[in-house]
Amino acid sequence: MAEREAAKQQKILSFSCARPTVAEIDLHALVANYHALRAVARDAEFMAVVKADAYGHGAVEVSHALARQGCRHFGVATLGEAKELRAAGLEERIYLMGGFFAQEAPELVDLDIVPFVADAAALPVLDSAAAANADPFPIHLKLDTGATRLGITSEDLPGAIEVLKHCRNLEVEGVCTLLASAADPSSPVTERQLEAFVRGVAMLRGAGFNPRYQHVANSAATVLRADTHFNMIRVGLALYGLPPVPAVINTVSLTPVMTFKTRLLQVKRVAAGTGVSYGHTFVTARPSVIGVLPVGYADGYRRGLQNGGEVLIRGLRAPVVGAVCMDLTMVDLTDVPGAAAGDPVVLWGGSGADSISAIDVAHQVSTISYELLCTVGRRVPRVYRD
Ligand SMILES: *Cc1c(COP(=O)(O)O)cnc(C)c1O
Repeated sequence: MAEREAAKQQKILSFSCARPTVAEIDLHALVANYHALRAVARDAEFMAVVKADAYGHGAVEVSHALARQGCRHFGVATLGEAKELRAAGLEERIYLMGGFFAQEAPELVDLDIVPFVADAAALPVLDSAAAANADPFPIHLKLDTGATRLGITSEDLPGAIEVLKHCRNLEVEGVCTLLASAADPSSPVTERQLEAFVRGVAMLRGAGFNPRYQHVANSAATVLRADTHFNMIRVGLALYGLPPVPAVINTVSLTPVMTFKTRLLQVKRVAAGTGVSYGHTFVTARPSVIGVLPVGYADGYRRGLQNGGEVLIRGLRAPVVGAVCMDLTMVDLTDVPGAAAGDPVVLWGGSGADSISAIDVAHQVSTISYELLCTVGRRVPRVYRD
């Protein structure tokens, strides 16, 4: 009986899913972005930031593709994300950047995940978890130099150093911080943070610690401020081909990695005065052709796009009309001659000569490209192109 059930389940799972709403991931573009960004900070070690499923691009595939290019350091936000990469066979360094709880310490040590430690209270816990190891367990100290997020403040650093002196099973391999205003290269806040960081590193050195890695820069700082490179950089968004601020593209050429696409599910002709979708928030002003797309806010296509969203069909831009639903979105195809069910549709990304930038789509719904990318839905297959 159990066997028949299992066979039936296997059969169901093997049916192909033909829903054409996919995020196409161009691994060739990813690799090109990686090399372009490496060239900006040649002497620094490169940490690829692959948290939040590599900003929605698929952490396992992205990490393996970058490891094949020689990338040796990968940053994630949660232990769950780190475990996923280890389970997928990634053997490179994985850093847990986003903080952790005491009960996670033994697993961190077991799986060889290097944590950013942002609190002296976590040190004894890690130290005892690492007691069985032959070699000291590497950690990176995360300093709060003014971002007022996760990190050890300058006031708390002397106390943390005292605790560290008693941790015989730990090695302070790195020290790092986060910039609050990296996107503004002339920000005096960055100046003050860099000074505080250098003071913190000096204090550690004075106490006999010799952290091999010092790192501060995210994508924006990597490209806009060489004085933030130290000897390691942590790059996320720019790897995925989007500039965190427009000035970035003056220095480095980036290609968007993700194309969010679907196909027209249905096309209908309607009279002038016809209400479209929930609440009839759009009413046709002329006899119109309305297209139905199999994508909605559950896929990460934002509800706010009913005001001003556009998609690419047959090389033309078609406006989103009426409420975006959980699973469906309507577009006005009246000015797209010949549009027919099955036609490819680009929601963001390139299509022939034209493209819709995820940055512009994000602006339309009052958010940033980061949020848009990492909220593409779980039911949207990621399709990889080499
Ligand atoms: C997410 C993150 C980064 C990467 O930032 P980008 O702007 O995407 O390059 C770097 N460092 C830390 C600590 C992060 O959490």
